[in-house]
Amino acid sequence: MDKQEALEKLKNEMEEDKTLPLRTSETRLVFGEGNPDAELYFIGEGPGYNENLQGRPFVGQAGKLLERTLSEIGLKREDVYISNIVRFRPPENRDPEPSEIAAFQPYVDREIEIISPKVIVTLGRFSMNKFLPGEMISRVHGKPVGVKFKGKDVIIVPMYHPAAALRAGRVLEQFREDFKRLPQILEQKATEKEEDNIEQLDLL
Ligand code: URA
Repeated sequence: MDKQEALEKLKNEMEEDKTLPLRTSETRLVFGEGNPDAELYFIGEGPGYNENLQGRPFVGQAGKLLERTLSEIGLKREDVYISNIVRFRPPENRDPEPSEIAAFQPYVDREIEIISPKVIVTLGRFSMNKFLPGEMISRVHGKPVGVKFKGKDVIIVPMYHPAAALRAGRVLEQFREDFKRLPQILEQKATEKEEDNIEQLDLL
């Protein structure tokens, strides 16, 4: 089975899984999308109003900012993979609860294993805490951290959520600066050089 088929299968399983929380008559599944061979995997929080309407991740204002900032480093959204920690819209866009995040986790983990990215960019604290529990974005944003995920080396780059960047000019500046470091971080991983610059953690 190739990656695209494996992702289709995973999506179908999620559609069928009636135990998943946040599934209502008002919500639809928002699965990840993008290049199955992407080196960069972005993971946000959960679908908002527009994402729920279209059934696609990051298509509202936050998504537009994500696309603009990707273009500043020469990438299109089709070049990367974009996903979320929960896959149905929480009511009134409230924060996802720990039990909800836990219910989606096996699917998120399988998606990451299928894509097998070099770098995972976490957008916001909920996806950051999956890999770096208890960390604070203001302390670690833009800093690559090497972790073992399901036995494989992967680099986590925590970033502010684009919705937070839309709310505050200073956060937007940081967000854009952090993005500018991504090509170099990818390059390092590709050459396996300067590994010392990457803080090593053996979490998962
Ligand atoms: N915010 C997110 O975290 N995810 C989306 O898909 C859209 C907005």
